[in-house]
Amino acid sequence: MRVLVLSDIHANLTALETVLADAEQFNFLGGTGFEQVWCLGDVVGYGPDPNECVERLRAFGDDHLCVAGNHDWAVLGNLPVDDFNAEARRAVVWTREQLTPESRAYLKGLPAEPLVRGDFTITHASPRHPVWEYMVSPFIAQENLAHFDTQSCLVGHTHVPVIFHCRRQQRAVENTEVCRALTPSYKQSVDLTNGHRLIINPGSVGQPRDSNPRAAYALLDTEANILRFRRVAYPYELTQSRMRAAKLPDRLIARLAYGW
Ligand SMILES: [Zn+2]
Repeated sequence: MRVLVLSDIHANLTALETVLADAEQFNFLGGTGFEQVWCLGDVVGYGPDPNECVERLRAFGDDHLCVAGNHDWAVLGNLPVDDFNAEARRAVVWTREQLTPESRAYLKGLPAEPLVRGDFTITHASPRHPVWEYMVSPFIAQENLAHFDTQSCLVGHTHVPVIFHCRRQQRAVENTEVCRALTPSYKQSVDLTNGHRLIINPGSVGQPRDSNPRAAYALLDTEANILRFRRVAYPYELTQSRMRAAKLPDRLIARLAYGW
């Protein structure tokens, strides 16, 4: 099965549309297109198009799944907004005011616990703390190995594309260094059948934070067990002008041009 893996769309419809179009035409393993969409959460928050992004995902119907991110939860009131910085908080409050009943119902239906599909565990932040933990180091990756059973785990949340390679070890063995972090290549596919357990972050569609403003996503073939990281430029000025019109915080508008 060919899967489009999306994370942290953050209500940026221009980035989402660009990614969907790119994924439709990109030649991956001798073919184009995708059969399923796996969304790793944070559909809304920060950006100007929360309802439109929800609608775009909903349109995939049974051909997509999505898990809840911390921003999705905050918008619903499941998390206190005090846990966010001032700008993120303003965006949460603004988003709350914009949501249609349909969008709200969609976000409410997103599972907070990890989903398992074949060899993949799918979660927003980490298998251990699905909504909150930042998977930013090999050590945190290692600690999470005991919290999922599949070969690979797909995470978002940090907005930084990365792949943690972890050597197999018995659960009983503790405090052994087993994971290392690799920055993804956009020039070649990754063979996931290399005997390692893997924790993979495709990066963020709508708000990249690795000093690269291009939208990030991944394509996955679950039979061949091969993944391809992708980056695609999108006209972020359009997103910025809608954010300006919505009076969203300046810093959130500025960061889209730089990817921080
Ligand atoms: Zn996010």
